[in-house]
Amino acid sequence: MRVLQVQAEIFPLLKTGGLADVAAALPPALRAQGADVRVLLPGFDAVLQGLSDAAEVARLHPPGGLHAAGGTRLLLGRLSACGDLPAYVIDAPAYYHREGGPYADLHQQPYGDNHLRFALLGWTAAQLAQALDPLWRPDVVHAHDWHAALAPAYLRQAQLNRQQHLAGSVYTIHNLAYQGLFNPRHFRELGLPADHWGVNGLEFHGQLNFMKGGLIFADRITTVSPSYAREIQSPDQGCGLDGLLRQRTAHLSGILNGVDAEVWDPRHDRLIPHAFGVDTLADKARNKAALQQELKLKGAAQAPLFCVVSRLTEQKGLHLLVQAAQGLIDAGAQIALLGSGDAWMEGAFRAMAAAQPDAVAVRIGYDESFAHRLIAGSDLIVVPSRYEPCGLTQLYGLKYGTLPLVRRVGGLADTVADTQLDTLDSTATGFVFDAFEADALYRAAQRALAVYRRPQEWQRVQQRAMQQPCDWSGPARQYLQLYERVSG
Ligand code: ADP
Repeated sequence: MRVLQVQAEIFPLLKTGGLADVAAALPPALRAQGADVRVLLPGFDAVLQGLSDAAEVARLHPPGGLHAAGGTRLLLGRLSACGDLPAYVIDAPAYYHREGGPYADLHQQPYGDNHLRFALLGWTAAQLAQALDPLWRPDVVHAHDWHAALAPAYLRQAQLNRQQHLAGSVYTIHNLAYQGLFNPRHFRELGLPADHWGVNGLEFHGQLNFMKGGLIFADRITTVSPSYAREIQSPDQGCGLDGLLRQRTAHLSGILNGVDAEVWDPRHDRLIPHAFGVDTLADKARNKAALQQELKLKGAAQAPLFCVVSRLTEQKGLHLLVQAAQGLIDAGAQIALLGSGDAWMEGAFRAMAAAQPDAVAVRIGYDESFAHRLIAGSDLIVVPSRYEPCGLTQLYGLKYGTLPLVRRVGGLADTVADTQLDTLDSTATGFVFDAFEADALYRAAQRALAVYRRPQEWQRVQQRAMQQPCDWSGPARQYLQLYERVSG
């Protein structure tokens, strides 16, 4: 089974969110089960720099509108930072060599030609399915998020033109809220047939919608948890696409993300001061002491420490924590946050830390190794999202015995089992609340504190959490089953 994974990011070379983690962890898990996996990425500087043994596979001649000044080449090499993963990289400096981030400039303004930059990604995937590389043609093209969503559309067009099945296609939604919306006049530049426009094509309320390319034309659609797969079929969480998703319900499923044990495992984590495991939780306490010292959090080792590692956007619901924080601090808790995003939320957390530096520590920014120290050293990790396709930090929390305090939504609902009197000795792995309200978060936190004051019970829940299977072998098996169904 030859599988081409198509996406815009890959950890550790380029990451803006969980998509990059999945892009890096799924291929080796699939390879471990016998699949022959390659990735296709845009040639951002970080990706080209990470590509070893690069050789030109072909010069690309995309349809008129997609043509990049100075030309476009397809390279094949290996990503040594990703376990020598074979990677096709689109070398089009006019599109991908930019000062800012992958999607937006230094002022956070999306690039004006994003529709072309990412249409080229989808178009190239479809070319590979048409034997652009005579030595390797995928049986399945697996496209991720809006950036790669035109791959199934171009593939369908090629199959209709040639009257033959070229490859199966799977499209994965990592976040339905980011759809890739553009001015409709750009549709003509994509080189797709006119009948790909309209409600049964890429039109969405008069705009051009890339994600619809994946939702309409892929053989199968997946998203990253079973609960999110259900939720996005309702108007409440469907972001305007719930009708289409209901139409495709027979071909839509949820497959949970796993945790990359190469990166996140407290027994072997070189980014934390003291490795620990389920039987050596005393060493977790040493990480906590080091963290409290690093952050200048005062007070006893027993002070329950809540952490957050997150983008600070509306989705993540962290304003609920802003509102509930004082009550927790008054109850003796400490809070440590790492994140960046909306200015007002950054300001709210900064102000809290400035007012109570003994109890609250806030670091604004992105810091991979601090994220590890924070999760290893804290007692709880808070993820109160409004919606959450899968969520990774609660999974890291489980693995590190840092009990997740989460809202019952999406992947959070699927991965964390609430601690109640009747679950304490059976299934409990964290603390779960329902209403998207500060008071609900606060009451769940109070329950957490009550259990925390009983160290033996706390430890039992920690140990169960740490033993939850959340590696990539199960998800990889499910993806492989899906690939087998579509590869024809
Ligand atoms: P999303 O993709 O919606 O941002 P996920 O929980 O799926 O949320 O994935 C977020 C990933 O980004 C996790 O690996 C998390 O550890 C990481 N992350 C988020 N914010 C930061 C930060 N400020 N510093 C370091 N890592 C971060």
